[in-house]
Amino acid sequence: MSASKRLFICGIATESHGFNKKPTILEDFTERGLFFACEHDDLSRFREGDNHIGGYLDVADAEGWELVAGVSGFAFPAGPVSEETFETLWGRIEKQLRAEGPFDGILMPMHGGMACEHLDDPEGELVARIREIVGREVLIGVTLDLHSNLSPQFIRDCDIVCGFHTAPHIDSRKTSFRVASIMARAFRGEVNPRCHSIHPPMLTGIDHGRTTVPHAPLFALLDRIKELQAEDPQLLDASFMASFPFADQPWTGPSAVLVMDGESDRVKDYLDEFGAEIWRTRDVLTIDIVPIDEALDAVERTANAPNPFLLGDFSDCPYAGAYGDTTALLAAMIDRQIPDAVFAPVFDPDTVDQAHQAGEGAEIEVALGGKSDPDFGGGPLESRARVLALSDGNFVHKGPFQQGRPGTLGKSAMLDIGGINVIVCSVPTQIHDREQLRLFGLEPETMNLIVSKAFNHMRADLEPICRGLLYPDAGGIFSFDFEQFPWQKIRRPIWPLDDFEIAPADMDRS
Ligand SMILES: [Zn+2]
Repeated sequence: MSASKRLFICGIATESHGFNKKPTILEDFTERGLFFACEHDDLSRFREGDNHIGGYLDVADAEGWELVAGVSGFAFPAGPVSEETFETLWGRIEKQLRAEGPFDGILMPMHGGMACEHLDDPEGELVARIREIVGREVLIGVTLDLHSNLSPQFIRDCDIVCGFHTAPHIDSRKTSFRVASIMARAFRGEVNPRCHSIHPPMLTGIDHGRTTVPHAPLFALLDRIKELQAEDPQLLDASFMASFPFADQPWTGPSAVLVMDGESDRVKDYLDEFGAEIWRTRDVLTIDIVPIDEALDAVERTANAPNPFLLGDFSDCPYAGAYGDTTALLAAMIDRQIPDAVFAPVFDPDTVDQAHQAGEGAEIEVALGGKSDPDFGGGPLESRARVLALSDGNFVHKGPFQQGRPGTLGKSAMLDIGGINVIVCSVPTQIHDREQLRLFGLEPETMNLIVSKAFNHMRADLEPICRGLLYPDAGGIFSFDFEQFPWQKIRRPIWPLDDFEIAPADMDRS
């Protein structure tokens, strides 16, 4: 067996909404992030559960690697990362990389959907800076969310790039395992990994990467990969990135990424095929995005059926970089006097404080939500409200998504506003687990309507108890009405903003 390998783990990961006015700052990584590993951190806490680093640890254990922890942070989605934040994190990574090398490999737990105030291709820039320090010989392997926007240059600078194969995402660990396993084979001299990619000029694609129905386009692409791998051992791995469409960066858009062993004559054909397929399926959507009225019509029409109706107020989903405080859909629900309904949650710490000060049962005048950007999805809703319940917002997930993990809405309250139960929170978040509703004394199974500011993850626990699911577009900043945004940096022409046709031969690739 060859001498033990030393690998460095580092990364800057987030998903940035180019039209969210609240920049992502250092504390969003270090204090409020999904995880933050520091220099020389004990990574063993990532040994359990579904996370990016666990898959690296699994391979490192088997191979006897020495893993050196560098700065590795994952911030929840918000606006572009501030220059100071990116450069501060990079400064820490650079210092350690120069001082503690040489390393045989670099493992990077990333997202791929980041935007920065000062960089057009943040992930590409990060990898390029690392490449400049470690040289061409050191292997760089990156784990990505499938909602990533990748540049050809990023692909050229990496040796191994693997993205999730599921959305909702339940394969973080498996994806990192794929990265590290290929790296292990490369160290053993079995393979010589090289990345290739094609980038169809689209804002979004592959049904946003959903794997919630059998006819999802992503399943067809992954099945095709299995077919090809059965006859071509050089095809080591493939990922299909659905993009994070609101990043407003030059490389915003979907891509197919292949990891090949050495030079291959077949790469061009593969890229042509996948570029064409992503373009061909650009209109495929396996969810129903409808106007608000159409959604509420469906709720009223089915009101006598058992089980609640589920509406995703997705255009204001904080897990997708929106603010979580718009009110347009709530106003429509109040207008229609929808009975036994909950609208949740509205991010509004001031109203939460007001409710806690007044106490349960009290009546208060509120200007609820709509404060982050009143131009999108409805401004503050002024109304008289009754305080129904107060909570610290802490719960433990019981549904399949994040099962067993503690979660929080922050200090929170449930108000009666115009006959609707409205949950107000002080941490921007979504409802994706029934426990979050039970906190306020609601019995989700017996309700008429549950509205969550969520997109995909709520489906794991809530969809099984619901009589129907629709996505009303209430005009928040995650609205798929792409025309309404002042795009500045994206490629043009681009689908669906421009009317054009393109052949795979004319698509960007690396
Ligand atoms: Zn994602």
